[in-house]
Amino acid sequence: MGRVLIIGAGGVGTVVAKKVAMNADVFTDIMLASRTKSKCDKLAKEIEKQLGIKIATAAVDADNVPELTELMKSFKPDLCINVALPYQDLHIMDACLLAGVNYLDTANYEPLDEAKYEYSWQWAYQDRFKEAGLTAILGCGFDPGVTSVFTAHAAKHHFDEIHYLDIVDCNGGDHHKAFATNFNPEINIREITQKGKYYENGRWIETEPQEIHKGLTYPNIGERESYLLYHEELESLVKNFPTIKRARFWMTFGQEYLTHLRVMQNIGMTRIDPIMYNGMEIVPIQFLKAVLPDPGDLGENYSGETSIGCRIRGIKNGKEHTYYIWNNCSHEAAYKETGAQGVSYTTGVPATIGAMMFMKGVWRRPGVFNLEEFDPDPFMAELPKQGLPWHEAHDIDIEL
Ligand code: NDP
Repeated sequence: MGRVLIIGAGGVGTVVAKKVAMNADVFTDIMLASRTKSKCDKLAKEIEKQLGIKIATAAVDADNVPELTELMKSFKPDLCINVALPYQDLHIMDACLLAGVNYLDTANYEPLDEAKYEYSWQWAYQDRFKEAGLTAILGCGFDPGVTSVFTAHAAKHHFDEIHYLDIVDCNGGDHHKAFATNFNPEINIREITQKGKYYENGRWIETEPQEIHKGLTYPNIGERESYLLYHEELESLVKNFPTIKRARFWMTFGQEYLTHLRVMQNIGMTRIDPIMYNGMEIVPIQFLKAVLPDPGDLGENYSGETSIGCRIRGIKNGKEHTYYIWNNCSHEAAYKETGAQGVSYTTGVPATIGAMMFMKGVWRRPGVFNLEEFDPDPFMAELPKQGLPWHEAHDIDIEL
């Protein structure tokens, strides 16, 4: 059905490349390009051996727009899946416009020198994508991504008005390391050490990092302490579902993780501004990334499950209604299928499904869109087929 260019060969890129190759009826020609070509070649070899599918590889610096545009013009993909880092988003969108390629990513743009999360930079591309007749699909991982589709599904099928939305993200797994992050450490630590923020009655309320927390019970996992933090899908969801009175995001952390993080913060290792070291400029958090475990290598001994979902209260047929929709994903099963742990899996699978929605023409509309702006039904139908089954419960105590 179409040609796809994947940019980024890290934890998430590994899952996307494998899942795309498993759906060769949809993705007729595949190229994997990243900064380090040897990682792409290794993956391509593995995929050919396991699945018998040949994928092309290339080295590219996605921050170099002319170089990336040239690559796109020579491979001629219909869609570019961006699973590099959020810093590259705008450069890849620029190249897509120059080469006439559609775009999909899993995380919103972040400036390198400021941990600031908002869609304004990418939403500003709306007119240019519209005029070019190209589609840009933003935030197609799990959260944002599946959580956005879950909310759209709830709004379409189970509520007349959504009033309270709580997105709950639990990693009940154990990678048997003293400290490791489940996706790119730099991006992950920047996100968690920022101030918390939630939406209530038309305004955003800021909290200190990890200030608000409570024990929540997750299916098949049990109770875990869950911390309120800001997550980017809140911004687009309250805009696209204006009946929402309050929207919050919760994520679980163990005490061991938080203690390590506090120490690293206190000694300055999470700083994102450059410092001088031995006559050269280094950014402490980038140095920290270099010494922490690679999230792509955590899979082998990872046990337990992730559980991510939406807990919603609102009105249906004039009556108060509560609803919980979630997915649980086993790290072990994810590793067996793709060689990656559950967090990379739960991000890479939705990116692949979003790309399928585009290729099949069901999510194809000129402009820049967040996932909840598309019809959730075909995406929801594909989730269990691609390895992410979902479950729902009605009129239960949602604890929040
Ligand atoms: P990794 O750090 O494991 O991989 C990033 C990849 O991008 C690496 O292969 C890296 O190359 C490549 N890369 C970095 N800079 C460039 C560049 N300038 N040009 C070309 N390639 C580049 O990250 P993850 O796989 O863990 O995460 C990928 C994305 O997924 C991130 O944006 C992250 O925020 C997002 N994410 C989204 C989630 C969601 O649910 N929505 C959840 C988890 C992650 P090299 O190997 O040379 O370093």
